[in-house]
Amino acid sequence: MTVADTIASSFLRVRGLGKSFGAFQALKDVDLDVARGEFVCFLGPSGCGKTTLLRAIAGLDPQDQGTIHIGGRDVSKAPPSERDFGIVFQSYALFPNLTVAKNVGYGLVNRARPRREIDARVAELLALVGLPEQGTKFPGQLSGGQQQRVALARALATSPGLLLLDEPLSALDAKVRVRLRDEMRALQQRLGVTTIMVTHDQEEALAMADRIVVMNHGVIEQVGTPEEIYRRPETAFVADFVGHMTFLDAVVTGPRSVKVGALDFIVAEDAGAEVGTPVKLALRPEAVQTRGVAADAPNRFDARVGDLAFLGAFCRAQLAPIEPGAPIIAADISANAMRDLGVATGDVRSVAFPPEALRVFAAAAS
Ligand code: ATP
Repeated sequence: MTVADTIASSFLRVRGLGKSFGAFQALKDVDLDVARGEFVCFLGPSGCGKTTLLRAIAGLDPQDQGTIHIGGRDVSKAPPSERDFGIVFQSYALFPNLTVAKNVGYGLVNRARPRREIDARVAELLALVGLPEQGTKFPGQLSGGQQQRVALARALATSPGLLLLDEPLSALDAKVRVRLRDEMRALQQRLGVTTIMVTHDQEEALAMADRIVVMNHGVIEQVGTPEEIYRRPETAFVADFVGHMTFLDAVVTGPRSVKVGALDFIVAEDAGAEVGTPVKLALRPEAVQTRGVAADAPNRFDARVGDLAFLGAFCRAQLAPIEPGAPIIAADISANAMRDLGVATGDVRSVAFPPEALRVFAAAAS
């Protein structure tokens, strides 16, 4: 989908959003478009403004500047009750003294729907989230994962146009988190409900989102598909925040070449800077090839294997280039390759990486 298509079909449109707490600017001039049916994650470090943006969209903490349109309607000044969303919080926020069924039906009772319609809808929703038998229990009798399913059913009860999820999985233990993550994504796709989820967990965002909005210090650093964010980070911050990255200080030596210490590397894209300009390079450990390196492979160099960290499916090796002046470069070596090659600390190996694997950023960026 092109940017123009996204905007044309945008279900949620945010323009120039600003929000301050006293002298602190939590959101600065935020623009965002979310298409109908999309699953978008707000991702960023603690305090970057993810929750503030979500709450402004919901109208729970209104913005100081800017506009919000939901489903083509200007809701910039509308109270939360007129914004047609369902919301799930990290802390479940269920009513402890109401049964599961009453929790799920709460919004429908508030809308004075007929009893039979409510009962049918609650049963349908409990089945949808895999809890068909639990309606008469109280929240305290359920596990964390079950409580969060109830919270999800409650958020969906009124068939809202927009589903807002504020770190819904972070209070759960790792196994339940992954299972519920897959279930929530499948349910969202089935229902086609436009969804925004706040998370600081990059793996969660990569696994669940159609597009990820990476935030830092109250601004959006990049919006893109998980693959774009991972493979083509536009800023050093995004490169550093998502996945593991080795950063290397380098100097531009030509339109497509850089020097790191005594090593000459080729980059696939024009570095966009004059010869002699200091730049920062970013390289993923999995892009470094450690076996079957051709003699004429680009970006080939010899390195001594330093620390080897066992990470399950692969080992992360710290490679010290033999040429002087080049910093340590991390390389991920698969478990199979480790076995075949018999890699050990102290070995000297020829390694290489493709020119496309190098991202070039301004040196001042961090
Ligand atoms: P986290 O993952 O820790 O929840 P976040 O990205 O969701 O982080 P926000 O909760 O949006 O961050 O907060 C953004 C900034 O605004 C933080 O520095 C926070 O301290 C500040 N902030 C948020 N709410 C308030 C408030 N009610 N009063 C004062 N400062 C606030």
